[in-house]
Amino acid sequence: MRNPLRWPSHIQILVALISGAAVGPLLAGEQGLIGPALGEGLAQVGQLFLSALKMLVIPLIMASIIAGLNQEGSRSPLGRMGWTTLVFYIATGLIAVTVAIVLANWIRPGELNGVPLAAQIGLQTLPGDLDPTLLSGQQHIALFLQRLVPSNLVEAAVEGQLLGLILFSLLFGLALRRLHGAAAETQVRFWTGLNQVMLAITDGIMRLAPVGIFALIAAMTARTGFSAAGPLLWFMATVMAGLLIHLMVTLPLLLRWIARVPPRRHFQAMMPALLMAFSTSSSAATLPVTMDCLERRAGVSRRTAGFVLPLGATVNMDGTALFECVVVLFVAQLYGIDLTLAQQALVLAVALLTSFGVAGIPSASLVSIAMILSVLGLPLEALGLVLGVDRILDMSRTAVNVFGDTVGAVVVARLEGEQEILIESPDVREHRLREQGD
Ligand code: ASP
Repeated sequence: MRNPLRWPSHIQILVALISGAAVGPLLAGEQGLIGPALGEGLAQVGQLFLSALKMLVIPLIMASIIAGLNQEGSRSPLGRMGWTTLVFYIATGLIAVTVAIVLANWIRPGELNGVPLAAQIGLQTLPGDLDPTLLSGQQHIALFLQRLVPSNLVEAAVEGQLLGLILFSLLFGLALRRLHGAAAETQVRFWTGLNQVMLAITDGIMRLAPVGIFALIAAMTARTGFSAAGPLLWFMATVMAGLLIHLMVTLPLLLRWIARVPPRRHFQAMMPALLMAFSTSSSAATLPVTMDCLERRAGVSRRTAGFVLPLGATVNMDGTALFECVVVLFVAQLYGIDLTLAQQALVLAVALLTSFGVAGIPSASLVSIAMILSVLGLPLEALGLVLGVDRILDMSRTAVNVFGDTVGAVVVARLEGEQEILIESPDVREHRLREQGD
Protein backbone atom coordinates (compact mmCIF):
# COMPACT_ATOMS: atom_id res chain seq x y z
CA MET A 1 0.00 0.00 0.00
CA ARG A 2 1.22 3.50 -0.83
CA ASN A 3 2.32 5.73 2.02
CA PRO A 4 -0.93 7.43 3.25
CA LEU A 5 0.92 10.75 3.35
CA ARG A 6 1.18 10.50 -0.43
CA TRP A 7 -2.52 9.89 -1.01
CA PRO A 8 -4.35 12.73 -2.81
CA SER A 9 -5.46 15.32 -0.28
CA HIS A 10 -9.20 14.67 -0.69
CA ILE A 11 -8.70 10.96 0.04
CA GLN A 12 -6.74 11.82 3.18
CA ILE A 13 -9.54 14.17 4.27
CA LEU A 14 -12.21 11.58 3.53
CA VAL A 15 -10.38 8.94 5.57
CA ALA A 16 -10.01 11.45 8.43
CA LEU A 17 -13.70 12.26 8.25
CA ILE A 18 -14.82 8.65 8.38
CA SER A 19 -12.39 7.59 11.10
CA GLY A 20 -13.30 10.67 13.15
CA ALA A 21 -16.97 9.70 12.95
CA ALA A 22 -16.08 6.16 14.01
CA VAL A 23 -13.88 7.17 16.94
CA GLY A 24 -16.07 10.00 18.28
CA PRO A 25 -18.84 7.88 19.82
CA LEU A 26 -16.19 5.82 21.65
CA LEU A 27 -15.21 8.96 23.51
CA ALA A 28 -18.78 9.87 24.41
CA GLY A 29 -20.00 10.57 27.95
CA GLU A 30 -19.15 9.01 31.27
CA GLN A 31 -19.06 5.49 29.90
CA GLY A 32 -16.79 6.64 27.05
CA LEU A 33 -13.96 4.24 26.42
CA ILE A 34 -11.21 6.77 26.45
CA GLY A 35 -12.67 9.49 28.62
CA PRO A 36 -13.94 13.03 28.17
CA ALA A 37 -10.52 14.67 28.60
CA LEU A 38 -9.36 13.33 25.25
CA GLY A 39 -12.63 14.47 23.68
CA GLU A 40 -11.97 17.96 25.06
CA GLY A 41 -8.43 17.91 23.67
CA LEU A 42 -9.66 16.86 20.24
CA ALA A 43 -12.28 19.62 20.26
CA GLN A 44 -9.51 22.13 20.86
CA VAL A 45 -7.35 20.76 18.07
CA GLY A 46 -10.32 20.96 15.70
CA GLN A 47 -11.08 24.49 16.79
CA LEU A 48 -7.47 25.53 16.25
CA PHE A 49 -7.57 24.19 12.72
CA LEU A 50 -10.78 26.07 12.03
CA SER A 51 -9.37 29.28 13.46
CA ALA A 52 -6.26 28.95 11.31
CA LEU A 53 -8.44 28.95 8.20
CA LYS A 54 -10.72 31.72 9.42
CA MET A 55 -7.69 33.85 10.17
CA LEU A 56 -7.07 34.08 6.42
CA VAL A 57 -10.54 35.12 5.39
CA ILE A 58 -10.37 38.89 5.80
CA PRO A 59 -7.04 39.50 4.00
CA LEU A 60 -7.98 36.89 1.40
CA ILE A 61 -11.30 38.55 0.56
CA MET A 62 -9.65 41.93 0.16
CA ALA A 63 -6.63 40.69 -1.78
CA SER A 64 -8.55 38.36 -4.09
CA ILE A 65 -11.14 40.95 -5.07
CA ILE A 66 -8.69 43.82 -5.51
CA ALA A 67 -6.06 41.72 -7.30
CA GLY A 68 -8.74 39.97 -9.36
CA LEU A 69 -10.13 43.28 -10.60
CA ASN A 70 -6.66 44.44 -11.57
CA GLN A 71 -5.14 41.36 -13.19
CA GLU A 72 -2.97 41.84 -16.27
CA GLY A 73 -5.34 42.24 -19.20
CA SER A 74 -8.44 42.35 -17.03
CA ARG A 75 -9.06 46.02 -17.21
CA SER A 76 -11.95 45.45 -19.58
CA PRO A 77 -15.48 46.45 -18.51
CA LEU A 78 -16.72 44.49 -15.54
CA GLY A 79 -20.40 45.22 -15.74
CA ARG A 80 -21.29 42.09 -17.67
CA MET A 81 -19.48 39.78 -15.26
CA GLY A 82 -21.26 41.41 -12.32
CA TRP A 83 -24.67 40.97 -13.91
CA THR A 84 -24.02 37.37 -14.97
CA THR A 85 -22.94 36.53 -11.43
CA LEU A 86 -25.98 38.16 -9.91
CA VAL A 87 -28.44 36.55 -12.32
CA PHE A 88 -26.82 33.15 -11.82
CA TYR A 89 -26.94 33.36 -8.04
CA ILE A 90 -30.57 34.50 -7.96
CA ALA A 91 -31.66 31.92 -10.53
CA THR A 92 -30.03 28.96 -8.78
CA GLY A 93 -31.41 30.18 -5.43
CA LEU A 94 -34.90 30.32 -6.95
CA ILE A 95 -34.59 26.79 -8.33
CA ALA A 96 -33.43 25.55 -4.89
CA VAL A 97 -36.36 27.07 -3.01
CA THR A 98 -38.85 25.85 -5.61
CA VAL A 99 -37.53 22.31 -5.22
CA ALA A 100 -37.88 22.72 -1.44
CA ILE A 101 -41.52 23.82 -1.67
CA VAL A 102 -42.43 21.00 -4.04
CA LEU A 103 -40.72 18.33 -1.90
CA ALA A 104 -42.14 19.59 1.40
CA ASN A 105 -45.65 19.60 -0.06
CA TRP A 106 -45.20 16.19 -1.55
CA ILE A 107 -43.51 14.36 1.34
CA ARG A 108 -45.33 16.34 4.07
CA PRO A 109 -42.75 15.55 6.77
CA GLY A 110 -44.80 17.26 9.53
CA GLU A 111 -47.65 14.77 9.31
CA LEU A 112 -48.10 11.07 9.88
CA ASN A 113 -50.92 9.54 7.82
CA GLY A 114 -52.36 13.00 7.35
CA VAL A 115 -52.37 13.81 11.09
CA PRO A 116 -50.22 16.74 12.27
CA LEU A 117 -47.42 15.51 14.49
CA ALA A 118 -47.20 18.41 16.99
CA ALA A 119 -49.00 16.79 19.92
CA GLN A 120 -47.35 13.44 19.35
CA ILE A 121 -43.89 14.88 19.73
CA GLY A 122 -44.76 17.00 22.75
CA LEU A 123 -45.14 20.44 21.22
CA GLN A 124 -47.70 22.46 23.13
CA THR A 125 -47.93 26.00 21.93
CA LEU A 126 -50.96 26.60 19.80
CA PRO A 127 -50.27 28.91 16.93
CA GLY A 128 -51.91 32.33 17.00
CA ASP A 129 -53.63 33.76 13.98
CA LEU A 130 -51.49 33.69 10.92
CA ASP A 131 -50.39 37.17 10.16
CA PRO A 132 -48.12 37.25 7.18
CA THR A 133 -46.92 40.73 6.51
CA LEU A 134 -44.74 42.03 3.77
CA LEU A 135 -43.22 44.58 6.09
CA SER A 136 -40.59 42.12 7.18
CA GLY A 137 -39.47 41.68 3.61
CA GLN A 138 -38.83 45.41 3.52
CA GLN A 139 -37.05 45.30 6.87
CA HIS A 140 -34.88 42.60 5.44
CA ILE A 141 -33.87 44.67 2.49
CA ALA A 142 -33.08 47.55 4.85
CA LEU A 143 -30.93 45.26 7.03
CA PHE A 144 -29.14 43.91 3.97
CA LEU A 145 -28.35 47.44 2.80
CA GLN A 146 -27.11 48.44 6.23
CA ARG A 147 -24.74 45.50 6.21
CA LEU A 148 -23.64 46.32 2.70
CA VAL A 149 -22.62 49.84 3.72
CA PRO A 150 -21.47 49.66 7.34
CA SER A 151 -20.37 52.93 8.92
CA ASN A 152 -17.39 51.20 10.48
CA LEU A 153 -15.72 48.67 8.21
CA VAL A 154 -13.42 47.22 10.85
CA GLU A 155 -16.19 46.78 13.39
CA ALA A 156 -18.39 44.99 10.82
CA ALA A 157 -15.54 42.67 9.80
CA VAL A 158 -14.75 41.89 13.45
CA GLU A 159 -18.37 40.85 13.90
CA GLY A 160 -18.09 38.53 10.91
CA GLN A 161 -20.25 40.74 8.66
CA LEU A 162 -18.30 40.38 5.45
CA LEU A 163 -20.67 42.14 3.06
CA GLY A 164 -19.26 45.57 3.92
CA LEU A 165 -15.73 44.32 3.38
CA ILE A 166 -16.72 42.98 -0.03
CA LEU A 167 -18.25 46.27 -1.12
CA PHE A 168 -15.23 48.17 0.17
CA SER A 169 -12.83 45.89 -1.70
CA LEU A 170 -14.90 46.22 -4.88
CA LEU A 171 -14.79 50.01 -4.61
CA PHE A 172 -11.07 49.90 -3.88
CA GLY A 173 -10.37 47.59 -6.82
CA LEU A 174 -12.51 49.65 -9.19
CA ALA A 175 -10.88 52.91 -8.11
CA LEU A 176 -7.47 51.34 -8.59
CA ARG A 177 -8.40 50.40 -12.16
CA ARG A 178 -8.76 54.10 -12.93
CA LEU A 179 -5.32 55.02 -11.61
CA HIS A 180 -2.17 54.90 -13.70
CA GLY A 181 1.53 55.24 -13.11
CA ALA A 182 3.84 54.12 -10.35
CA ALA A 183 1.39 54.39 -7.46
CA ALA A 184 -1.13 52.17 -9.24
CA GLU A 185 1.53 49.63 -10.20
CA THR A 186 2.83 49.37 -6.64
CA GLN A 187 -0.69 48.83 -5.35
CA VAL A 188 -1.52 46.15 -7.92
CA ARG A 189 1.73 44.29 -7.18
CA PHE A 190 1.08 44.50 -3.46
CA TRP A 191 -2.45 43.05 -3.62
CA THR A 192 -1.47 40.38 -6.15
CA GLY A 193 1.44 39.34 -3.93
CA LEU A 194 -0.78 39.32 -0.85
CA ASN A 195 -3.26 37.11 -2.66
CA GLN A 196 -0.51 34.63 -3.56
CA VAL A 197 0.80 34.63 -0.01
CA MET A 198 -2.67 33.88 1.39
CA LEU A 199 -3.08 30.95 -0.99
CA ALA A 200 0.36 29.67 -0.03
CA ILE A 201 -0.58 29.77 3.65
CA THR A 202 -3.85 28.01 2.81
CA ASP A 203 -1.83 25.29 1.17
CA GLY A 204 0.28 24.90 4.29
CA ILE A 205 -2.74 24.74 6.60
CA MET A 206 -4.40 22.23 4.29
CA ARG A 207 -1.54 19.83 4.86
CA LEU A 208 -2.84 19.61 8.41
CA ALA A 209 -6.43 19.14 7.22
CA PRO A 210 -6.58 15.38 7.93
CA VAL A 211 -5.60 15.96 11.57
CA GLY A 212 -7.87 18.98 11.97
CA ILE A 213 -10.84 17.26 10.40
CA PHE A 214 -10.37 14.05 12.32
CA ALA A 215 -10.39 16.10 15.53
CA LEU A 216 -13.40 18.22 14.52
CA ILE A 217 -15.55 15.27 13.54
CA ALA A 218 -14.50 13.05 16.47
CA ALA A 219 -15.27 15.82 18.96
CA MET A 220 -18.60 16.47 17.29
CA THR A 221 -19.78 12.87 17.22
CA ALA A 222 -18.55 12.47 20.82
CA ARG A 223 -20.91 15.28 21.81
CA THR A 224 -23.96 14.44 19.74
CA GLY A 225 -23.63 10.75 18.91
CA PHE A 226 -25.91 9.42 16.20
CA SER A 227 -29.13 9.47 18.22
CA ALA A 228 -32.10 8.43 16.14
CA ALA A 229 -34.10 11.43 15.22
CA GLY A 230 -37.47 9.61 15.35
CA PRO A 231 -40.25 11.78 13.97
CA LEU A 232 -37.71 14.12 12.47
CA LEU A 233 -36.46 11.46 10.10
CA TRP A 234 -38.87 12.44 7.35
CA PHE A 235 -37.99 16.05 7.84
CA MET A 236 -34.30 15.25 7.54
CA ALA A 237 -34.97 13.07 4.52
CA THR A 238 -36.86 15.92 2.82
CA VAL A 239 -33.98 18.35 3.37
CA MET A 240 -31.42 15.80 2.21
CA ALA A 241 -33.44 14.92 -0.90
CA GLY A 242 -33.66 18.60 -1.82
CA LEU A 243 -29.94 19.14 -1.27
CA LEU A 244 -29.10 16.06 -3.30
CA ILE A 245 -31.28 17.18 -6.21
CA HIS A 246 -29.54 20.54 -6.21
CA LEU A 247 -26.08 19.03 -5.91
CA MET A 248 -26.46 16.10 -8.28
CA VAL A 249 -29.03 17.29 -10.82
CA THR A 250 -29.57 21.06 -11.01
CA LEU A 251 -26.00 22.29 -10.69
CA PRO A 252 -24.41 19.56 -12.88
CA LEU A 253 -26.98 20.29 -15.60
CA LEU A 254 -26.02 23.95 -15.52
CA LEU A 255 -22.36 22.96 -15.71
CA ARG A 256 -23.03 20.85 -18.76
CA TRP A 257 -25.52 23.09 -20.56
CA ILE A 258 -24.18 26.55 -19.89
CA ALA A 259 -20.50 26.06 -19.02
CA ARG A 260 -20.05 22.98 -21.23
CA VAL A 261 -17.64 21.31 -18.84
CA PRO A 262 -17.86 17.73 -17.55
CA PRO A 263 -19.59 17.83 -14.13
CA ARG A 264 -17.64 14.78 -12.95
CA ARG A 265 -14.36 16.51 -13.40
CA HIS A 266 -15.66 19.58 -11.64
CA PHE A 267 -16.72 17.45 -8.68
CA GLN A 268 -13.28 15.89 -8.65
CA ALA A 269 -11.60 19.29 -8.73
CA MET A 270 -13.76 20.67 -5.92
CA MET A 271 -13.58 17.60 -3.67
CA PRO A 272 -11.21 19.16 -1.07
CA ALA A 273 -13.47 22.23 -0.78
CA LEU A 274 -16.63 20.10 -0.56
CA LEU A 275 -15.18 17.92 2.18
CA MET A 276 -13.90 20.97 3.99
CA ALA A 277 -17.32 22.66 3.85
CA PHE A 278 -18.95 19.44 5.06
CA SER A 279 -16.52 19.13 7.97
CA THR A 280 -16.55 22.75 9.09
CA SER A 281 -20.17 23.80 8.34
CA SER A 282 -18.82 27.18 7.39
CA SER A 283 -18.63 28.55 3.88
CA ALA A 284 -16.58 31.51 5.12
CA ALA A 285 -13.93 29.30 6.72
CA THR A 286 -13.87 27.16 3.57
CA LEU A 287 -13.32 30.15 1.27
CA PRO A 288 -9.49 29.89 1.14
CA VAL A 289 -9.75 26.23 0.14
CA THR A 290 -12.49 26.91 -2.41
CA MET A 291 -10.39 29.63 -3.97
CA ASP A 292 -7.37 27.35 -4.12
CA CYS A 293 -9.36 24.51 -5.75
CA LEU A 294 -10.93 26.78 -8.31
CA GLU A 295 -7.68 28.43 -9.41
CA ARG A 296 -5.27 25.53 -9.15
CA ARG A 297 -7.39 22.48 -9.72
CA ALA A 298 -10.04 23.80 -12.12
CA GLY A 299 -8.02 26.51 -13.88
CA VAL A 300 -10.45 29.40 -13.43
CA SER A 301 -8.68 32.75 -13.78
CA ARG A 302 -7.81 34.77 -10.70
CA ARG A 303 -9.92 37.60 -12.05
CA THR A 304 -13.12 35.56 -12.14
CA ALA A 305 -12.47 33.50 -9.01
CA GLY A 306 -11.49 36.62 -7.08
CA PHE A 307 -14.71 38.35 -8.02
CA VAL A 308 -17.31 35.58 -8.01
CA LEU A 309 -16.22 33.46 -5.04
CA PRO A 310 -16.01 35.90 -2.11
CA LEU A 311 -19.38 37.25 -3.20
CA GLY A 312 -20.79 33.74 -3.43
CA ALA A 313 -19.42 32.62 -0.06
CA THR A 314 -21.26 35.54 1.49
CA VAL A 315 -24.52 35.88 -0.41
CA ASN A 316 -25.09 32.76 -2.50
CA MET A 317 -26.50 30.07 -0.21
CA ASP A 318 -28.72 27.72 -2.20
CA GLY A 319 -28.57 24.97 0.42
CA THR A 320 -29.49 27.39 3.17
CA ALA A 321 -32.42 28.88 1.25
CA LEU A 322 -33.71 25.38 0.51
CA PHE A 323 -33.36 24.37 4.16
CA GLU A 324 -35.18 27.49 5.39
CA CYS A 325 -38.17 26.71 3.16
CA VAL A 326 -38.42 23.10 4.26
CA VAL A 327 -38.22 24.03 7.95
CA VAL A 328 -40.99 26.62 7.69
CA LEU A 329 -43.35 24.33 5.78
CA PHE A 330 -42.50 21.48 8.17
CA VAL A 331 -43.38 23.58 11.22
CA ALA A 332 -46.66 24.69 9.61
CA GLN A 333 -47.52 21.06 8.86
CA LEU A 334 -46.65 20.00 12.42
CA TYR A 335 -49.43 22.27 13.67
CA GLY A 336 -51.84 21.34 10.90
CA ILE A 337 -51.73 24.77 9.31
CA ASP A 338 -52.30 24.82 5.58
CA LEU A 339 -50.35 27.64 4.06
CA THR A 340 -52.05 29.13 1.03
CA LEU A 341 -50.21 29.42 -2.25
CA ALA A 342 -49.65 33.13 -1.60
CA GLN A 343 -48.21 32.39 1.83
CA GLN A 344 -45.92 29.75 0.37
CA ALA A 345 -44.77 32.25 -2.23
CA LEU A 346 -44.01 34.61 0.63
CA VAL A 347 -41.98 31.90 2.38
CA LEU A 348 -40.11 31.31 -0.87
CA ALA A 349 -39.30 34.98 -1.34
CA VAL A 350 -38.30 35.62 2.27
CA ALA A 351 -36.16 32.47 2.38
CA LEU A 352 -34.28 33.58 -0.70
CA LEU A 353 -33.90 37.12 0.57
CA THR A 354 -32.74 36.12 4.04
CA SER A 355 -30.32 33.54 2.67
CA PHE A 356 -28.40 36.46 1.08
CA GLY A 357 -27.79 37.88 4.53
CA VAL A 358 -26.99 34.62 6.38
CA ALA A 359 -23.38 34.57 7.58
CA GLY A 360 -21.22 31.68 6.38
CA ILE A 361 -20.86 30.18 9.84
CA PRO A 362 -22.37 27.09 11.51
CA SER A 363 -26.13 27.20 12.16
CA ALA A 364 -26.37 30.82 11.03
CA SER A 365 -29.63 30.22 9.18
CA LEU A 366 -31.54 29.31 12.34
CA VAL A 367 -31.82 33.01 13.19
CA SER A 368 -33.42 33.75 9.82
CA ILE A 369 -35.78 30.84 10.25
CA ALA A 370 -36.88 32.20 13.62
CA MET A 371 -37.62 35.45 11.83
CA ILE A 372 -39.66 33.83 9.04
CA LEU A 373 -41.64 31.81 11.57
CA SER A 374 -42.57 34.92 13.48
CA VAL A 375 -43.53 36.73 10.27
CA LEU A 376 -46.01 33.93 9.61
CA GLY A 377 -47.16 33.84 13.23
CA LEU A 378 -45.92 30.27 13.70
CA PRO A 379 -44.58 29.21 17.12
CA LEU A 380 -40.85 29.07 17.57
CA GLU A 381 -41.04 26.07 19.88
CA ALA A 382 -40.44 23.56 17.10
CA LEU A 383 -37.16 25.21 16.27
CA GLY A 384 -35.66 23.52 19.33
CA LEU A 385 -36.39 20.16 17.70
CA VAL A 386 -34.72 21.20 14.48
CA LEU A 387 -31.72 22.43 16.43
CA GLY A 388 -31.25 18.91 17.79
CA VAL A 389 -30.58 17.52 14.34
CA ASP A 390 -29.16 20.63 12.77
CA ARG A 391 -25.52 19.64 12.73
CA ILE A 392 -25.61 17.04 10.00
CA LEU A 393 -28.03 19.14 7.95
CA ASP A 394 -25.77 22.15 8.40
CA MET A 395 -22.78 20.17 7.17
CA SER A 396 -24.68 19.06 4.10
CA ARG A 397 -26.22 22.42 3.21
CA THR A 398 -22.87 24.16 3.61
CA ALA A 399 -21.33 21.75 1.09
CA VAL A 400 -24.16 22.60 -1.31
CA ASN A 401 -23.69 26.33 -0.66
CA VAL A 402 -20.00 26.07 -1.52
CA PHE A 403 -20.59 23.88 -4.56
CA GLY A 404 -23.12 26.43 -5.85
CA ASP A 405 -20.48 29.15 -5.60
CA THR A 406 -17.94 27.12 -7.53
CA VAL A 407 -20.43 26.28 -10.28
CA GLY A 408 -21.24 30.00 -10.46
CA ALA A 409 -17.56 30.81 -10.91
CA VAL A 410 -17.09 28.21 -13.67
CA VAL A 411 -20.22 29.33 -15.52
CA VAL A 412 -19.24 33.00 -15.31
CA ALA A 413 -15.66 32.21 -16.39
CA ARG A 414 -16.88 30.29 -19.44
CA LEU A 415 -19.32 33.03 -20.39
CA GLU A 416 -16.38 35.44 -20.13
CA GLY A 417 -14.63 33.30 -22.73
CA GLU A 418 -12.12 31.39 -20.55
CA GLN A 419 -10.94 28.28 -22.37
CA GLU A 420 -8.59 26.63 -19.88
CA ILE A 421 -11.17 25.35 -17.43
CA LEU A 422 -11.13 21.68 -16.46
CA ILE A 423 -9.31 20.63 -19.61
CA GLU A 424 -6.93 18.40 -17.67
CA SER A 425 -7.25 16.21 -14.60
CA PRO A 426 -7.32 18.39 -11.44
CA ASP A 427 -4.69 16.26 -9.69
CA VAL A 428 -2.32 16.50 -12.65
CA ARG A 429 -2.81 20.23 -12.98
CA GLU A 430 -2.25 20.84 -9.27
CA HIS A 431 0.88 18.70 -9.29
CA ARG A 432 2.26 20.48 -12.34
CA LEU A 433 1.70 23.92 -10.82
CA ARG A 434 3.34 22.82 -7.61
CA GLU A 435 6.38 21.54 -9.49
CA GLN A 436 6.57 24.87 -11.26
CA GLY A 437 6.50 26.53 -7.86
CA ASP A 438 3.41 28.58 -8.68
N1 ASP B 1 -23.50 26.96 7.78
C1 ASP B 1 -23.98 27.59 6.59
C2 ASP B 1 -22.81 28.11 5.77
O1 ASP B 1 -21.81 28.49 6.29
C3 ASP B 1 -24.97 28.68 6.88
C4 ASP B 1 -26.23 28.07 7.44
O2 ASP B 1 -27.08 27.63 6.65
O3 ASP B 1 -26.40 28.02 8.66
O4 ASP B 1 -22.86 28.13 4.57
